[in-house]
Amino acid sequence: MIITGSEITAAMDGRLKDELRTLNGHVPQLAVVRAGKDAGSLAYESSMMKRLSVIGLKVRPYTFAGDISGAEFGKAFAAINQDPSIDGILLLRPLPAQLDEKAVCGLIDPVKDVDGLSPVNMAKVFMGDESGFAPCTAEAVMEVLRWAGINPAGKRVAIIGRSTLVGRPLAMLLLRQNATITVCHTQTADVEKICRNSEIVIAAAGRAKLVNKKFIAEGAVVIDVGINADQAGNLCGDVDFADVVEKSSFITPVPDGVGTVTITVLARHVMRAAVCRRRAFSA
Ligand code: NAD
Repeated sequence: MIITGSEITAAMDGRLKDELRTLNGHVPQLAVVRAGKDAGSLAYESSMMKRLSVIGLKVRPYTFAGDISGAEFGKAFAAINQDPSIDGILLLRPLPAQLDEKAVCGLIDPVKDVDGLSPVNMAKVFMGDESGFAPCTAEAVMEVLRWAGINPAGKRVAIIGRSTLVGRPLAMLLLRQNATITVCHTQTADVEKICRNSEIVIAAAGRAKLVNKKFIAEGAVVIDVGINADQAGNLCGDVDFADVVEKSSFITPVPDGVGTVTITVLARHVMRAAVCRRRAFSA
């Protein structure tokens, strides 16, 4: 069965619109911070801005030159953190080389950190504390599994990729639901065999069509997080969809897979940040 992102987000978007009506006219606002003009960031920014405005949320872009100094960026970032009209902050990455990504992530106010990049929110994910924000992509994968009725408890799960944005937090979210996880990376021996022995395979390596049917056991669940261009320049995932689709029980396509759900999870986080901040101010 093919699970598309748009089927999942149709219901989620409806719930968000209902929730928005309970905010008595307050429209949550997301700051999108970008330094430089990375092509992937530009594409994500434009599709995300369109989707958030359809849901009814405000997005304010903050765009900086690719050669901005660390000091200037830090100063501008502090002003965004302190701006009371901003409910959530999304930092687009990769950052230009002169900006220290770890240091910048450490600047984000945890209550506005809707993509879970700050050390406080990372720690909460690792501690199983649900009061923080998990990275939207990792949470989107959990949303896909939930929507498809796949309970990861007791299942062998292979995650290809160990990035701080996807692989690692996802391993923690799945562990909380009692899955048995193997996190594969570039130094892992025989990724193919590990995947073939798994009931759920989640590909987040950033390698076009890496996962073919030799990686997949009959009836496995295949979730494709990757967003890449193939040799012809067309958008594709980390999974060779045509090769794997018949062998899998559930599979997400690219486009219209996890990426679509990620944006709705982001909208949900912005809404939650706005509600929490309003509660804090009225207490
Ligand atoms: P990253 O480059 O930070 O991490 C990639 C990880 O994959 C690394 O841990 C690396 O060790 C591992 N890896 C790479 N090649 C491998 C191989 N051949 N075998 C085993 N492991 C391998 O990337 P990221 O930010 O985690 O993103 C991964 C992919 O997901 C990219 O294609 C990115 O565009 C996509 N992405 C999608 C969404 C979404 O919403 N769908 C969001 C973020 C990223």
